[in-house]
Amino acid sequence: MAEAVTSVRPEMGARDGEMIDPFGRHVTYLRVSVTDRCDFRCVYCMSEHMTFLPKRELLTLEELNRLCSAFVAKGVRKLRITGGEPLVRKNIMWLFDQLGRHLETGALDELTVTTNGSQLTKLADDLYASGVRRVNVSLDTLDEKKFKAVTRWGDLGKVMDGIDAAQKAGLKVKINAVAVKGVNDTEYDDMIRWAHGRGMDLTLIETMPLGEIDEDRTDQYLPLSVVRADLMERWTLTDDMHKTGGPARYVKIEETGGLMGFITPMTHNFCESCNRVRLTCTGDLYMCLGQEDRADLRTPLRTSPDDAALYNAIDEAIGRKPKGHDFIIDRRTKTPAVSRHMSVTGG
Ligand code: SAM
Ligand code: SF4
Repeated sequence: MAEAVTSVRPEMGARDGEMIDPFGRHVTYLRVSVTDRCDFRCVYCMSEHMTFLPKRELLTLEELNRLCSAFVAKGVRKLRITGGEPLVRKNIMWLFDQLGRHLETGALDELTVTTNGSQLTKLADDLYASGVRRVNVSLDTLDEKKFKAVTRWGDLGKVMDGIDAAQKAGLKVKINAVAVKGVNDTEYDDMIRWAHGRGMDLTLIETMPLGEIDEDRTDQYLPLSVVRADLMERWTLTDDMHKTGGPARYVKIEETGGLMGFITPMTHNFCESCNRVRLTCTGDLYMCLGQEDRADLRTPLRTSPDDAALYNAIDEAIGRKPKGHDFIIDRRTKTPAVSRHMSVTGG
């Protein structure tokens, strides 16, 4: 259950169903992890032998639909479905179809998904039909051997076919790559040419210290300030005002005309404009990716068929949204800043 309340100012709470946190930030973006399971085992995300939640602990798809719909009623305009690997959850297209209704009524602006791409050849057309128009595909390298090394279980060819299928289905694809020292640090030029050549934006993400993995995170961490300085030796980067309400800062690469994003939780504090909260597949709401505080929404969801208790629990949780996170990779103890894995909270 929830931990100590930090600086709640009730007068700044929800008005007319809106969610406004104690620092005046409107919460309009919900990321939902629909499963903690995955068909890959990326080295920065999971250990090779993960213990996953027992299936009975998971919210059903019906419950996820009800919860997401409650958030839409409370002012969420953008929903991102993530995981674990969201597209490996059984019958997941049912949830997309249900949530797509909120696009039709205009209550929701956007329904998106973050995926490793392994299921896109099968599901790209269905995603488009449900109302999804943009997908983020995580891809750290274009080299087959390195891809195997970083994902442990992934197949690059399948992901590439998935990206083809997504573009063919009419989905706009954005590529996310985690910058991993010694793995893809010599590849960014090739990745820029490849992604921009296919009309896809490319965003680099710094590794974040989330959850126990088998490897040493200080060996993986590559500050994007270093990457950016290196890129500037060969490319012309112009700051771009492209705003997603997210933590990425964008530059235009003049030579390609494409956009490149940098997500730098370790070196840049992006919390002032944070408009998002994260829901896990067990119904816990995390108000910040980098903090342990969470609110249990499963209990109010299951104890009452009407949504009044749920709305109260959501308001109370938003009243505890913290000002920001404080990620560090502790070089002495090598322990993660936050003990849960990214696949639990959803990236
Ligand atoms: N399985 C899907 C995928 O890989 O896109 C969705 C879930 S995954 C947890 C979401 C994003 O988080 C991916 O882009 C992944 O690379 C990123 N990620 C996972 N662990 C991370 C970490 N420790 N630091 C930074 N990014 C991480
Ligand atoms: Fe799976 Fe995504 Fe984590 Fe990789 S980053 S192990 S694909 S959840």
